[in-house]
Amino acid sequence: MTYPTQPTASHFINGQYVEDTDGTPIDVIYPATGEVIGRVHSATPAIIERALDAARNAQAAWAAMTGTERGRILRRAADIMRERNHDLSVLETYDTGKPYQETSVVDATSGADALEYFGGMAATLTGEHIQLGEDWVYTRREPLGVCVGIGAWNYPTQIASWKGAPALACGNTMVFKPSETTPLCALKVAEILYEAGAPAGVYNVVQGLGDVGAALVTDARVDKVSLTGSVPTGRKVYAAAAAGIKHVTMELGGKSPMIVFDDADIENAVSGAILGNFYSSGQVCSNGTRVFVHRDIKEAFLSRLSERLAHAVIGDPQDPDTSFGPMVSERQMNIVLGYIAKGQAEGARLVYGGKRLDKNGFYLEPTVFADVRDDMSIAREEIFGPVMAVLDFEDEGDVMVRANDTEFGLAAGVFTRDLARAHRVAAGFQAGTCYINTYNDAPVEAPFGGSKQSGVGRENSKTAIEHYSQLKSIYVRMGDLEAPF
Ligand code: NDP
Repeated sequence: MTYPTQPTASHFINGQYVEDTDGTPIDVIYPATGEVIGRVHSATPAIIERALDAARNAQAAWAAMTGTERGRILRRAADIMRERNHDLSVLETYDTGKPYQETSVVDATSGADALEYFGGMAATLTGEHIQLGEDWVYTRREPLGVCVGIGAWNYPTQIASWKGAPALACGNTMVFKPSETTPLCALKVAEILYEAGAPAGVYNVVQGLGDVGAALVTDARVDKVSLTGSVPTGRKVYAAAAAGIKHVTMELGGKSPMIVFDDADIENAVSGAILGNFYSSGQVCSNGTRVFVHRDIKEAFLSRLSERLAHAVIGDPQDPDTSFGPMVSERQMNIVLGYIAKGQAEGARLVYGGKRLDKNGFYLEPTVFADVRDDMSIAREEIFGPVMAVLDFEDEGDVMVRANDTEFGLAAGVFTRDLARAHRVAAGFQAGTCYINTYNDAPVEAPFGGSKQSGVGRENSKTAIEHYSQLKSIYVRMGDLEAPF
Protein backbone atom coordinates (compact mmCIF):
# COMPACT_ATOMS: atom_id res chain seq x y z
CA MET A 1 0.00 0.00 0.00
CA THR A 2 1.21 3.49 -0.67
CA TYR A 3 0.04 6.54 1.16
CA PRO A 4 0.69 10.21 0.63
CA THR A 5 3.82 11.90 1.89
CA GLN A 6 5.35 8.53 2.71
CA PRO A 7 8.65 9.07 4.58
CA THR A 8 11.52 7.75 2.49
CA ALA A 9 13.69 6.25 5.25
CA SER A 10 13.65 5.39 8.95
CA HIS A 11 15.47 8.35 10.45
CA PHE A 12 15.87 12.06 9.74
CA ILE A 13 19.29 13.30 10.82
CA ASN A 14 21.24 16.43 9.99
CA GLY A 15 18.75 17.56 7.35
CA GLN A 16 18.33 14.28 5.51
CA TYR A 17 16.64 10.92 5.56
CA VAL A 18 19.00 8.22 6.75
CA GLU A 19 18.68 4.43 6.65
CA ASP A 20 20.60 1.72 8.45
CA THR A 21 19.09 -1.69 7.78
CA ASP A 22 21.28 -3.27 10.47
CA GLY A 23 18.70 -1.96 12.97
CA THR A 24 15.89 -4.27 14.09
CA PRO A 25 12.99 -4.01 11.62
CA ILE A 26 9.80 -2.42 12.93
CA ASP A 27 6.68 -3.09 10.87
CA VAL A 28 4.17 -0.30 10.52
CA ILE A 29 0.71 -1.83 10.84
CA TYR A 30 -2.46 -0.08 9.69
CA PRO A 31 -4.82 -0.57 12.64
CA ALA A 32 -7.95 -0.55 10.46
CA THR A 33 -6.91 -3.67 8.53
CA GLY A 34 -3.98 -5.22 10.37
CA GLU A 35 -1.94 -4.95 7.15
CA VAL A 36 1.75 -4.09 7.18
CA ILE A 37 2.01 -0.76 5.33
CA GLY A 38 5.63 0.03 5.87
CA ARG A 39 8.81 -0.87 7.65
CA VAL A 40 11.37 1.18 9.52
CA HIS A 41 14.50 0.08 11.32
CA SER A 42 15.36 0.74 14.91
CA ALA A 43 18.33 3.05 15.38
CA THR A 44 21.66 1.29 15.70
CA PRO A 45 24.30 2.75 18.05
CA ALA A 46 25.87 4.38 14.97
CA ILE A 47 22.56 6.12 14.12
CA ILE A 48 22.09 7.32 17.70
CA GLU A 49 25.63 8.67 17.60
CA ARG A 50 24.99 10.55 14.35
CA ALA A 51 21.75 12.07 15.64
CA LEU A 52 23.23 13.27 18.93
CA ASP A 53 26.32 14.62 17.20
CA ALA A 54 24.17 16.46 14.68
CA ALA A 55 22.03 18.01 17.42
CA ARG A 56 25.08 18.96 19.49
CA ASN A 57 26.94 20.47 16.54
CA ALA A 58 23.96 22.50 15.36
CA GLN A 59 23.00 23.93 18.72
CA ALA A 60 25.37 26.87 19.19
CA ALA A 61 24.69 28.40 15.78
CA TRP A 62 20.92 27.89 16.20
CA ALA A 63 21.01 29.59 19.61
CA ALA A 64 23.10 32.42 18.18
CA MET A 65 20.37 33.38 15.72
CA THR A 66 18.00 36.08 16.88
CA GLY A 67 14.67 34.98 18.28
CA THR A 68 12.99 36.71 15.36
CA GLU A 69 14.94 34.58 12.90
CA ARG A 70 14.19 31.34 14.75
CA GLY A 71 10.57 32.31 15.13
CA ARG A 72 10.21 33.05 11.43
CA ILE A 73 11.36 29.51 10.63
CA LEU A 74 8.92 27.98 13.09
CA ARG A 75 6.05 30.06 11.71
CA ARG A 76 6.99 29.07 8.17
CA ALA A 77 6.89 25.43 9.29
CA ALA A 78 3.42 26.07 10.73
CA ASP A 79 2.26 27.42 7.36
CA ILE A 80 3.64 24.40 5.49
CA MET A 81 1.98 22.06 7.98
CA ARG A 82 -1.37 23.76 7.45
CA GLU A 83 -0.99 23.71 3.64
CA ARG A 84 -0.34 19.95 3.81
CA ASN A 85 -2.97 19.26 6.43
CA HIS A 86 -4.88 16.80 4.24
CA ASP A 87 -1.90 14.59 3.40
CA LEU A 88 -0.53 14.76 6.95
CA SER A 89 -3.94 13.80 8.31
CA VAL A 90 -4.20 10.82 5.99
CA LEU A 91 -0.73 9.74 7.15
CA GLU A 92 -1.68 10.23 10.82
CA THR A 93 -4.72 8.03 10.20
CA TYR A 94 -2.52 5.30 8.67
CA ASP A 95 -0.08 5.59 11.58
CA THR A 96 -2.66 5.54 14.40
CA GLY A 97 -5.99 4.36 12.96
CA LYS A 98 -7.72 7.49 14.29
CA PRO A 99 -10.54 8.64 11.99
CA TYR A 100 -9.70 11.27 9.37
CA GLN A 101 -12.66 13.19 10.79
CA GLU A 102 -10.43 13.72 13.86
CA THR A 103 -6.95 13.85 12.39
CA SER A 104 -7.94 16.52 9.85
CA VAL A 105 -8.86 18.95 12.64
CA VAL A 106 -6.64 17.96 15.56
CA ASP A 107 -3.20 16.62 14.71
CA ALA A 108 -1.25 18.62 12.13
CA THR A 109 -3.44 21.61 13.01
CA SER A 110 -2.46 21.53 16.69
CA GLY A 111 1.16 20.88 15.68
CA ALA A 112 0.95 23.99 13.51
CA ASP A 113 -0.60 25.94 16.39
CA ALA A 114 2.39 25.06 18.59
CA LEU A 115 4.88 26.06 15.88
CA GLU A 116 3.05 29.32 15.31
CA TYR A 117 2.62 30.13 19.02
CA PHE A 118 6.22 29.42 20.03
CA GLY A 119 7.46 30.92 16.78
CA GLY A 120 5.69 34.12 17.82
CA MET A 121 7.19 33.95 21.30
CA ALA A 122 10.78 33.31 20.22
CA ALA A 123 11.54 36.99 19.71
CA THR A 124 10.00 38.00 23.03
CA LEU A 125 12.25 35.89 25.25
CA THR A 126 14.34 38.22 27.35
CA GLY A 127 16.09 38.42 30.68
CA GLU A 128 15.57 41.19 33.22
CA HIS A 129 17.47 44.02 34.84
CA ILE A 130 17.64 44.10 38.65
CA GLN A 131 18.99 47.34 40.13
CA LEU A 132 20.92 46.97 43.43
CA GLY A 133 21.91 50.50 44.44
CA GLU A 134 24.71 51.38 42.05
CA ASP A 135 25.32 47.74 41.17
CA TRP A 136 22.99 45.67 39.11
CA VAL A 137 22.23 42.18 37.99
CA TYR A 138 20.97 41.20 34.62
CA THR A 139 19.67 37.83 33.58
CA ARG A 140 20.05 36.06 30.28
CA ARG A 141 17.50 33.48 29.25
CA GLU A 142 19.58 30.72 27.70
CA PRO A 143 18.72 27.42 26.04
CA LEU A 144 19.40 24.15 27.84
CA GLY A 145 21.28 22.59 24.92
CA VAL A 146 20.26 19.29 23.34
CA CYS A 147 16.76 18.08 24.21
CA VAL A 148 15.48 14.55 23.75
CA GLY A 149 11.78 14.09 23.06
CA ILE A 150 10.15 10.67 23.45
CA GLY A 151 6.60 10.20 22.27
CA ALA A 152 3.58 7.97 22.91
CA TRP A 153 1.59 6.52 20.01
CA ASN A 154 -1.71 8.34 20.34
CA TYR A 155 -0.80 11.78 18.91
CA PRO A 156 2.48 11.33 16.99
CA THR A 157 2.40 14.61 15.02
CA GLN A 158 1.14 16.65 17.94
CA ILE A 159 3.64 15.27 20.45
CA ALA A 160 6.59 15.78 18.07
CA SER A 161 5.46 19.39 17.54
CA TRP A 162 4.49 20.22 21.13
CA LYS A 163 7.98 19.23 22.25
CA GLY A 164 9.89 20.56 19.26
CA ALA A 165 8.31 24.00 19.00
CA PRO A 166 9.17 25.38 22.46
CA ALA A 167 12.55 23.61 22.47
CA LEU A 168 13.56 25.20 19.17
CA ALA A 169 12.07 28.60 20.03
CA CYS A 170 14.41 28.76 23.04
CA GLY A 171 17.49 27.90 20.95
CA ASN A 172 17.77 24.20 21.80
CA THR A 173 18.12 21.41 19.29
CA MET A 174 16.20 18.13 19.49
CA VAL A 175 16.45 14.42 18.91
CA PHE A 176 12.94 12.96 18.89
CA LYS A 177 12.08 9.27 19.22
CA PRO A 178 8.51 8.39 18.28
CA SER A 179 6.75 5.35 19.68
CA GLU A 180 7.66 2.25 17.74
CA THR A 181 3.90 1.75 17.14
CA THR A 182 3.56 5.03 15.19
CA PRO A 183 6.93 5.86 13.64
CA LEU A 184 5.86 7.82 10.54
CA CYS A 185 4.45 11.22 11.46
CA ALA A 186 7.39 12.68 13.40
CA LEU A 187 9.54 12.22 10.29
CA LYS A 188 7.23 14.62 8.46
CA VAL A 189 7.58 17.17 11.27
CA ALA A 190 11.38 16.96 10.89
CA GLU A 191 11.14 17.25 7.10
CA ILE A 192 8.87 20.30 7.31
CA LEU A 193 11.06 22.09 9.85
CA TYR A 194 14.07 21.55 7.61
CA GLU A 195 12.19 22.73 4.56
CA ALA A 196 11.08 25.82 6.49
CA GLY A 197 14.72 26.73 7.09
CA ALA A 198 15.75 25.06 10.33
CA PRO A 199 19.47 24.34 9.83
CA ALA A 200 20.55 20.72 9.47
CA GLY A 201 20.77 18.99 12.85
CA VAL A 202 18.33 21.28 14.65
CA TYR A 203 15.50 18.71 14.70
CA ASN A 204 16.29 15.02 14.23
CA VAL A 205 14.16 11.89 14.45
CA VAL A 206 15.38 8.38 15.23
CA GLN A 207 13.28 5.24 15.45
CA GLY A 208 13.41 2.57 18.08
CA LEU A 209 11.92 0.83 21.07
CA GLY A 210 12.49 1.70 24.70
CA ASP A 211 16.18 0.74 24.50
CA VAL A 212 16.82 3.53 21.98
CA GLY A 213 14.95 5.95 24.26
CA ALA A 214 17.06 4.78 27.19
CA ALA A 215 20.31 5.26 25.23
CA LEU A 216 19.28 8.82 24.37
CA VAL A 217 18.26 9.69 27.93
CA THR A 218 21.52 8.52 29.47
CA ASP A 219 23.85 10.19 26.94
CA ALA A 220 26.08 12.89 28.40
CA ARG A 221 25.42 15.20 25.42
CA VAL A 222 21.75 15.46 26.37
CA ASP A 223 20.59 18.27 28.67
CA LYS A 224 16.85 17.72 28.84
CA VAL A 225 14.36 14.90 28.39
CA SER A 226 10.68 15.37 27.63
CA LEU A 227 8.61 12.19 27.72
CA THR A 228 4.99 11.55 26.88
CA GLY A 229 4.16 8.06 28.04
CA SER A 230 2.87 5.89 30.83
CA VAL A 231 3.67 6.29 34.54
CA PRO A 232 5.89 3.14 34.67
CA THR A 233 7.98 4.41 31.72
CA GLY A 234 8.02 7.85 33.32
CA ARG A 235 9.54 6.42 36.48
CA LYS A 236 12.34 4.76 34.50
CA VAL A 237 13.07 7.77 32.31
CA TYR A 238 12.92 10.22 35.23
CA ALA A 239 15.36 8.06 37.22
CA ALA A 240 17.74 7.75 34.28
CA ALA A 241 17.61 11.52 33.69
CA ALA A 242 18.20 12.15 37.40
CA ALA A 243 21.47 10.22 37.25
CA GLY A 244 22.75 12.87 34.86
CA ILE A 245 20.92 15.75 36.67
CA LYS A 246 19.08 16.51 33.44
CA HIS A 247 16.01 18.70 33.14
CA VAL A 248 12.76 16.79 32.60
CA THR A 249 9.20 17.20 31.48
CA MET A 250 7.00 14.16 32.16
CA GLU A 251 3.57 13.98 30.53
CA LEU A 252 2.22 10.74 31.89
CA GLY A 253 -0.98 8.78 32.27
CA GLY A 254 -4.20 9.41 34.12
CA LYS A 255 -7.48 8.08 35.47
CA SER A 256 -9.28 11.37 35.55
CA PRO A 257 -12.65 12.07 37.17
CA MET A 258 -15.60 13.82 35.56
CA ILE A 259 -18.38 14.84 37.96
CA VAL A 260 -21.91 15.39 36.67
CA PHE A 261 -24.14 17.14 39.23
CA ASP A 262 -27.92 16.83 39.21
CA ASP A 263 -28.35 20.40 37.93
CA ALA A 264 -26.11 19.80 34.89
CA ASP A 265 -27.36 20.15 31.33
CA ILE A 266 -27.57 16.44 30.57
CA GLU A 267 -27.02 16.83 26.85
CA ASN A 268 -23.79 18.76 27.46
CA ALA A 269 -22.67 16.31 30.13
CA VAL A 270 -23.23 13.40 27.77
CA SER A 271 -21.24 15.27 25.10
CA GLY A 272 -18.42 15.78 27.62
CA ALA A 273 -18.47 12.11 28.58
CA ILE A 274 -18.37 11.06 24.91
CA LEU A 275 -15.50 13.46 24.10
CA GLY A 276 -13.67 12.44 27.27
CA ASN A 277 -13.98 8.69 26.71
CA PHE A 278 -14.44 7.82 23.07
CA TYR A 279 -12.52 10.41 21.06
CA SER A 280 -9.50 8.66 19.48
CA SER A 281 -11.17 5.40 20.59
CA GLY A 282 -10.42 6.41 24.17
CA GLN A 283 -6.66 6.60 23.65
CA VAL A 284 -6.24 10.02 25.25
CA CYS A 285 -4.18 10.54 28.40
CA SER A 286 -6.44 13.19 29.93
CA ASN A 287 -9.69 11.25 29.42
CA GLY A 288 -12.33 11.52 32.14
CA THR A 289 -12.78 7.79 32.53
CA ARG A 290 -14.35 7.84 35.99
CA VAL A 291 -17.68 9.52 35.38
CA PHE A 292 -19.39 10.28 38.71
CA VAL A 293 -23.06 10.91 37.99
CA HIS A 294 -25.48 12.18 40.66
CA ARG A 295 -27.84 9.36 41.62
CA ASP A 296 -30.96 11.39 40.71
CA ILE A 297 -29.99 11.76 37.05
CA LYS A 298 -28.02 8.56 36.56
CA GLU A 299 -30.61 6.60 34.59
CA ALA A 300 -31.48 9.62 32.41
CA PHE A 301 -27.78 10.14 31.75
CA LEU A 302 -27.18 6.48 30.88
CA SER A 303 -30.14 6.20 28.56
CA ARG A 304 -29.25 9.39 26.66
CA LEU A 305 -25.62 8.22 26.48
CA SER A 306 -26.66 4.88 24.98
CA GLU A 307 -28.91 6.62 22.43
CA ARG A 308 -26.06 8.87 21.33
CA LEU A 309 -23.48 6.06 21.19
CA ALA A 310 -25.74 4.22 18.76
CA HIS A 311 -25.00 7.07 16.32
CA ALA A 312 -21.23 6.46 16.35
CA VAL A 313 -20.10 5.67 12.81
CA ILE A 314 -17.59 2.85 13.19
CA GLY A 315 -15.66 1.85 10.10
CA ASP A 316 -12.99 2.86 7.60
CA PRO A 317 -11.09 5.65 9.37
CA GLN A 318 -10.13 7.27 6.05
CA ASP A 319 -13.85 7.85 5.31
CA PRO A 320 -14.67 11.36 6.56
CA ASP A 321 -18.03 10.12 7.86
CA THR A 322 -16.41 7.65 10.25
CA SER A 323 -16.40 8.97 13.82
CA PHE A 324 -14.97 5.98 15.71
CA GLY A 325 -11.92 4.02 14.59
CA PRO A 326 -9.90 1.00 15.69
CA MET A 327 -7.44 0.67 18.56
CA VAL A 328 -3.86 1.52 17.64
CA SER A 329 -2.64 -2.08 17.83
CA GLU A 330 -3.70 -5.64 18.49
CA ARG A 331 -1.75 -5.51 21.74
CA GLN A 332 -3.64 -2.43 22.97
CA MET A 333 -6.95 -3.97 21.87
CA ASN A 334 -6.21 -7.07 23.92
CA ILE A 335 -5.25 -5.00 26.98
CA VAL A 336 -8.61 -3.23 26.74
CA LEU A 337 -10.52 -6.49 26.23
CA GLY A 338 -8.82 -7.75 29.39
CA TYR A 339 -10.16 -4.76 31.33
CA ILE A 340 -13.66 -5.28 29.91
CA ALA A 341 -13.55 -8.88 31.15
CA LYS A 342 -12.30 -7.68 34.56
CA GLY A 343 -15.10 -5.13 34.79
CA GLN A 344 -17.67 -7.88 34.25
CA ALA A 345 -15.91 -10.29 36.61
CA GLU A 346 -15.76 -7.66 39.36
CA GLY A 347 -19.51 -7.05 39.10
CA ALA A 348 -19.90 -3.81 37.13
CA ARG A 349 -23.06 -3.57 34.98
CA LEU A 350 -22.28 -3.56 31.24
CA VAL A 351 -24.59 -0.93 29.79
CA TYR A 352 -23.20 -0.59 26.28
CA GLY A 353 -20.76 -2.36 23.97
CA GLY A 354 -18.11 -4.62 25.43
CA LYS A 355 -17.11 -6.62 22.36
CA ARG A 356 -14.58 -6.75 19.58
CA LEU A 357 -16.21 -6.06 16.22
CA ASP A 358 -16.39 -8.90 13.73
CA LYS A 359 -14.20 -7.28 11.08
CA ASN A 360 -10.57 -6.88 10.12
CA GLY A 361 -8.53 -4.48 12.17
CA PHE A 362 -8.49 -3.79 15.89
CA TYR A 363 -12.02 -2.54 16.44
CA LEU A 364 -13.78 -2.48 19.78
CA GLU A 365 -17.25 -1.21 20.57
CA PRO A 366 -17.53 1.93 22.67
CA THR A 367 -18.13 0.44 26.11
CA VAL A 368 -19.94 1.76 29.19
CA PHE A 369 -20.06 0.19 32.63
CA ALA A 370 -22.45 1.46 35.33
CA ASP A 371 -22.65 0.68 39.06
CA VAL A 372 -18.86 0.81 39.16
CA ARG A 373 -17.31 0.84 42.63
CA ASP A 374 -14.20 2.82 43.54
CA ASP A 375 -12.14 -0.29 44.26
CA MET A 376 -12.73 -2.03 40.91
CA SER A 377 -9.79 -2.34 38.52
CA ILE A 378 -11.68 -0.41 35.82
CA ALA A 379 -12.02 2.51 38.27
CA ARG A 380 -8.42 2.50 39.44
CA GLU A 381 -6.18 1.63 36.49
CA GLU A 382 -5.58 3.50 33.26
CA ILE A 383 -7.18 1.42 30.49
CA PHE A 384 -6.34 3.68 27.53
CA GLY A 385 -9.28 2.52 25.47
CA PRO A 386 -12.99 3.21 24.91
CA VAL A 387 -14.22 2.07 28.33
CA MET A 388 -16.23 4.46 30.49
CA ALA A 389 -16.84 3.71 34.16
CA VAL A 390 -19.97 5.38 35.58
CA LEU A 391 -20.09 5.70 39.37
CA ASP A 392 -22.94 7.06 41.52
CA PHE A 393 -22.73 9.81 44.11
CA GLU A 394 -25.03 11.99 46.19
CA ASP A 395 -22.90 14.40 48.15
CA GLU A 396 -20.37 16.96 46.86
CA GLY A 397 -17.89 16.56 49.71
CA ASP A 398 -17.96 12.80 49.40
CA VAL A 399 -17.50 12.77 45.62
CA MET A 400 -14.55 15.14 45.85
CA VAL A 401 -12.73 12.78 48.22
CA ARG A 402 -13.45 9.87 45.87
CA ALA A 403 -12.46 11.85 42.75
CA ASN A 404 -9.09 12.71 44.29
CA ASP A 405 -8.46 9.21 45.67
CA THR A 406 -6.01 8.19 42.93
CA GLU A 407 -2.27 8.21 42.34
CA PHE A 408 -2.92 10.12 39.10
CA GLY A 409 -3.61 13.85 38.73
CA LEU A 410 -3.67 14.67 35.06
CA ALA A 411 -7.14 16.11 34.44
CA ALA A 412 -10.62 16.49 35.94
CA GLY A 413 -13.97 17.93 34.88
CA VAL A 414 -17.23 19.12 36.39
CA PHE A 415 -20.65 19.63 34.83
CA THR A 416 -23.04 21.87 36.77
CA ARG A 417 -25.06 25.05 36.28
CA ASP A 418 -24.11 26.29 39.77
CA LEU A 419 -21.33 28.83 39.22
CA ALA A 420 -19.94 28.83 42.76
CA ARG A 421 -19.94 25.04 42.91
CA ALA A 422 -18.17 24.78 39.56
CA HIS A 423 -15.25 26.91 40.75
CA ARG A 424 -15.18 25.32 44.21
CA VAL A 425 -14.97 21.86 42.69
CA ALA A 426 -12.32 22.92 40.15
CA ALA A 427 -10.23 24.39 42.97
CA GLY A 428 -10.59 21.16 44.94
CA PHE A 429 -9.47 18.84 42.17
CA GLN A 430 -5.96 17.44 42.59
CA ALA A 431 -5.21 17.64 38.88
CA GLY A 432 -3.15 19.80 36.54
CA THR A 433 -5.75 20.42 33.84
CA CYS A 434 -9.41 21.00 34.76
CA TYR A 435 -12.61 21.64 32.83
CA ILE A 436 -15.93 23.27 33.69
CA ASN A 437 -18.84 22.24 31.46
CA THR A 438 -16.49 20.94 28.78
CA TYR A 439 -13.80 18.28 28.46
CA ASN A 440 -10.41 17.73 26.80
CA ASP A 441 -9.91 21.11 25.15
CA ALA A 442 -6.14 21.62 24.88
CA PRO A 443 -5.36 24.98 23.26
CA VAL A 444 -1.66 25.80 22.88
CA GLU A 445 -2.21 29.01 24.86
CA ALA A 446 -3.04 27.10 28.07
CA PRO A 447 -0.62 25.10 30.25
CA PHE A 448 -1.15 21.35 29.95
CA GLY A 449 0.18 18.71 32.30
CA GLY A 450 -0.36 16.63 35.38
CA SER A 451 0.10 16.72 39.11
CA LYS A 452 0.82 13.77 41.44
CA GLN A 453 2.12 10.79 39.42
CA SER A 454 0.74 12.15 36.14
CA GLY A 455 3.70 14.31 35.52
CA VAL A 456 6.30 16.96 36.09
CA GLY A 457 6.33 20.27 34.27
CA ARG A 458 3.88 21.71 31.77
CA GLU A 459 3.63 21.75 28.01
CA ASN A 460 2.18 24.58 25.92
CA SER A 461 1.62 28.21 26.97
CA LYS A 462 4.23 30.69 28.18
CA THR A 463 5.05 28.24 30.98
CA ALA A 464 6.69 25.78 28.58
CA ILE A 465 9.46 28.33 28.03
CA GLU A 466 10.52 27.82 31.67
CA HIS A 467 10.99 24.13 30.92
CA TYR A 468 13.16 24.63 27.83
CA SER A 469 15.41 27.46 29.01
CA GLN A 470 17.39 28.51 32.05
CA LEU A 471 18.31 31.86 33.54
CA LYS A 472 21.86 33.01 33.99
CA SER A 473 22.35 35.83 36.55
CA ILE A 474 25.19 38.26 35.92
CA TYR A 475 26.20 40.56 38.78
CA VAL A 476 27.79 43.84 37.68
CA ARG A 477 29.77 45.85 40.26
CA MET A 478 30.10 49.51 39.38
CA GLY A 479 32.58 50.58 42.07
CA ASP A 480 35.75 49.27 43.73
CA LEU A 481 35.70 45.81 45.23
CA GLU A 482 36.65 45.42 48.91
CA ALA A 483 38.06 42.19 50.34
CA PRO A 484 38.89 41.24 53.98
CA PHE A 485 42.60 40.87 53.28
P1 NDP B 1 4.89 4.01 26.98
O1 NDP B 1 5.16 4.57 28.32
O2 NDP B 1 4.86 2.56 26.80
O3 NDP B 1 5.98 4.56 25.94
C1 NDP B 1 6.22 5.93 25.77
C2 NDP B 1 7.52 6.12 24.99
O4 NDP B 1 8.63 5.81 25.83
C3 NDP B 1 7.63 5.20 23.78
O5 NDP B 1 8.27 5.92 22.73
C4 NDP B 1 8.49 4.08 24.31
O6 NDP B 1 9.15 3.37 23.28
C5 NDP B 1 9.46 4.85 25.18
N1 NDP B 1 10.14 4.07 26.21
C6 NDP B 1 9.76 2.90 26.78
N2 NDP B 1 10.66 2.53 27.72
C7 NDP B 1 11.63 3.46 27.75
C8 NDP B 1 12.83 3.64 28.52
N3 NDP B 1 13.21 2.78 29.46
N4 NDP B 1 13.59 4.74 28.28
C9 NDP B 1 13.22 5.64 27.34
N5 NDP B 1 12.10 5.53 26.58
C10 NDP B 1 11.31 4.45 26.79
O7 NDP B 1 3.54 4.70 26.53
P2 NDP B 1 2.64 4.37 25.27
O8 NDP B 1 3.38 4.65 24.01
O9 NDP B 1 2.02 3.03 25.50
O10 NDP B 1 1.52 5.50 25.40
C11 NDP B 1 0.45 5.41 26.28
C12 NDP B 1 0.74 6.14 27.58
O11 NDP B 1 1.10 7.48 27.33
C13 NDP B 1 -0.47 6.22 28.48
O12 NDP B 1 -0.11 5.96 29.80
C14 NDP B 1 -0.92 7.64 28.35
O13 NDP B 1 -1.65 8.11 29.43
C15 NDP B 1 0.37 8.36 28.16
N6 NDP B 1 0.14 9.65 27.52
C16 NDP B 1 0.28 10.80 28.24
C17 NDP B 1 0.01 12.01 27.68
C18 NDP B 1 0.19 13.28 28.44
O14 NDP B 1 0.33 14.33 27.83
N7 NDP B 1 0.17 13.28 29.76
C19 NDP B 1 -0.45 12.12 26.29
C20 NDP B 1 -0.52 10.86 25.60
C21 NDP B 1 -0.25 9.66 26.22
P3 NDP B 1 8.41 2.15 22.54
O15 NDP B 1 6.96 2.22 22.84
O16 NDP B 1 8.69 2.38 21.12
O17 NDP B 1 9.03 0.92 23.11
